[in-house]
Amino acid sequence: MLAQTIPNNDFLAYTLSQTKQIQPPQTFDLPNGIAVDVLDNGVISFTPLNYTKDIILSCAIHGNETAPIEICNQLIDDILSLKIELKQRVMFIIGNPEAILNKSRFIDENLNRLFSGAHSKGQGLTNKERHRAKALEAHVALFFAKNDNKQRIHYDLHTAIKPSKHEKFAIYPYRPGRSYSAEQIVLLGLCGVNTILYHHEPTTTFSYYSSNKFNADAFTVELGKVMPFGENDMQKFAATQTTLTTLLSETNLPQIPFDPTHFNLYKVARSINKHHDDFEFNFSHSTENFTQFTQGELLATEGGQQIRIEHDIEAIVFPNANVPVGQRTVLCLIPAPNEDVT
Ligand SMILES: [Zn+2]
Repeated sequence: MLAQTIPNNDFLAYTLSQTKQIQPPQTFDLPNGIAVDVLDNGVISFTPLNYTKDIILSCAIHGNETAPIEICNQLIDDILSLKIELKQRVMFIIGNPEAILNKSRFIDENLNRLFSGAHSKGQGLTNKERHRAKALEAHVALFFAKNDNKQRIHYDLHTAIKPSKHEKFAIYPYRPGRSYSAEQIVLLGLCGVNTILYHHEPTTTFSYYSSNKFNADAFTVELGKVMPFGENDMQKFAATQTTLTTLLSETNLPQIPFDPTHFNLYKVARSINKHHDDFEFNFSHSTENFTQFTQGELLATEGGQQIRIEHDIEAIVFPNANVPVGQRTVLCLIPAPNEDVT
């Protein structure tokens, strides 16, 4: 039964072979009693008899970000082949299988701008990513709806296009009225992610959806630079793989106190939107994420105006001058060592 359902326990290969077909949901049990539900193309959940956490691990929300796909596929293989003794309920999501096949970030539209209902706004459900965002929201809602007394976790795993001064970093979604979780930041640290960016406003990302709608401990986790399949140095992801295995296979996590000096902690000072077509940065395309600028330095020009650094030091992330007028071109960050982390 199992061998026929997912050949060689390779869920990625199975997913990619099924993208053109409507898949009826499938359910089966592993010999150790874990219930397996293949819920949709690229969506699979595993339920042990007893557990304390509902965990979602998603990858390929951007189709060409291969390392997280390889990490998730290995974890799925480890569970199916009983190498991991699963202690927590987990759902894996391979976000955009068609974009994986296309070796591209997306087919029609950036999937990670379409959550929290954005899929149905504006042009409406007019392309594949919009339909997929709506379907993935429903899977997350169903998965988290089963329990309201378990800890909810969602790590949306990515790799960045741009090189970064901090190779691995996590975006902590805006969560007004809720303190940040020391346990989660420590866990990210064990994954090799020692840079945290506290976000400042609601967004249409997948992690914000889980955080805002279901009070999940959710993060967008950037694990390094985009590489083609087979060209990832998986040693660079060993700590992430090991820590995620621990998260899934241990009842209790290691108790390590949060020490802010072990992390680079940033918050958004301002978001610079584009107002004119001639918007241009005053730094080169190859400038790394988290590069720091000092007060008064020229950051960009548009419409005959100069945009300069306002704080003593500001670090930039996600610069992109080629966005439509009205959208964000770059986030400017300042150090945030004293946020409410408990
Ligand atoms: Zn991404």
